[in-house]
This record gives sequence, C-alpha cells and structure tokens, in this order.
Amino acid sequence: MSSPSHMTFAELGIPFPLFAAPVAEASKYDGLGTCELCNTAESHCFRIGIGDAVTHPCASCGDVVGHHVADRAAVPCPSCSAVAPWPAGLGGRIRVCYACVRAGRGLMGKDTEFGLLSWEQRVAGVTLGVPGLGEHRQDYPGVELVQTGDPEMQLGEMMDAWFGAKLPAAAMDELLRTPTYSTWQGETWLFEGPTPMIYLGCWQASNFDAHAEDGNGERLFLEAVQDADEGTWDDLADGSISVYVFRSPTSGRLRGTWDRD
Ligand SMILES: [Zn+2]
Ligand SMILES: [Zn+2]
Ligand SMILES: [Zn+2]
Repeated sequence: MSSPSHMTFAELGIPFPLFAAPVAEASKYDGLGTCELCNTAESHCFRIGIGDAVTHPCASCGDVVGHHVADRAAVPCPSCSAVAPWPAGLGGRIRVCYACVRAGRGLMGKDTEFGLLSWEQRVAGVTLGVPGLGEHRQDYPGVELVQTGDPEMQLGEMMDAWFGAKLPAAAMDELLRTPTYSTWQGETWLFEGPTPMIYLGCWQASNFDAHAEDGNGERLFLEAVQDADEGTWDDLADGSISVYVFRSPTSGRLRGTWDRD
C-alpha cells in the first residue's frame, strides 16, 4: 500500500475536480484533525491563512460574507452593507475540513495567469489582474479581459495598465474550493479560455515521455510548457527546474509552467 502522501485526494476519498496531483503536492493539506469552522473531529483538514478567506451567512440578510484571514476584521456585507464581525475564536491559521472547503466556508485564494483570485475578486467577478495583460488578448481567446486597479495610478508611460479576467462565478467558486499546489516561486493556475484547468502535478522528463503519443516527451514539453526551449528541457532532465502541468477538462490539452529555486 502506498503512503498517503503519494495518493491522490480522490484515492483518499476527498476528491477535488481540479486537483489530480498527489496529496503531497497540496501546500495546505494538514491531515486528520478537528475543523475550526464546524468542529467535526477526525476530518481531512486544510490550514488556511494569508490570501485565504472564511465566509458565513450575513446575520442581517443571509447572503454570503467573506473575511480575509490576513485581516481578521469586521467587514460590510456585500449585499446589505451590515457590518459582519470576524468570527469569534478564529486565529490566523485556521484548520478547515474538506466538507467546509467544498461548501465554500473556507476559501483557498489562488494566484492565476490572470492575477490573484480571492474573496473580493469573487464578489467583483474579475481577477485582480496582471500588468500589461491587455496587450496579449490574442493569447486568451474566449476570455473577457478588463482593466483593473486604479487607472489614475496607471497613467504614467512607465506603468503598464493592469488587466484581469472576467470569469464565470462557478469557475471562481471551484478554484477557491481547490487546494493550492506547492512550488518554488508561487503557483500560477492555468486556464483554457475562461475554464480553469486540472492540476496534474509536478512532472519529470519521464512523465512527458510517457504521455507523448509518439513517445517524444521533449516535443510535448515544448508544445505544452510556456517560455520553454531545448535548454529548459535539459534543465528538467538534470533536475534544476520544476514543471507544473495542467490538463484541460474539455479538450484534454496539456499546458504547464516552470520555475526554479
Ligand atoms: Zn468543517
Ligand atoms: Zn447582508
Ligand atoms: Zn512569456
């Protein structure tokens, strides 16, 4: 029997549609414990913190209110503006069970190729954005890119305007209910059109060889991984970079990014 860390979440009985990699690659998985939101003991938990949020129904109108864990502050309800206090008793690193994550009570913020996604971006329906993304519209067919941030702050010639992606609420919800994957430099969740891709894991050269229809892993690598060339393939072979691979849930196409320590 393989150790739990080599298993996938589906094999553990807690599936995530967008996370098919081994459990060991999830940066916030915390093993079995007691959920601090619903108090269920012996449940598979995640530790959420900076960049993440907790939500609860507004006491006045019943709509969902989110709080950044980093702020641990009262916030106005986005629907009725009633002030919602930070939930009593919660600290800065909160253990949240699988059921609460899937119900959207503990949201795991994501960095994506369209910029950060957390509670505010979910409310706005647009990712935080990336400087200069508006000049690369042709690379993102089917995605509505809109200017984000304060245009006053972006007037100078030196500053590229920030553009974020308008994403379907269901896509944002699913990403916020998905574990974050471990990297050297921070994750970049990839999309096909406005659809988040499925994270398959950190791949070796042999994984590309095994998945290439013609057995030519290097060709598949160069096709799928952005900003990569023959030198990058050599770096992967000698273990000096990490490559993070995603699959489209609709077309099956692979895309990847890489980083180094
Ligand atoms: Zn819970
Ligand atoms: Zn309200
Ligand atoms: Zn590039």
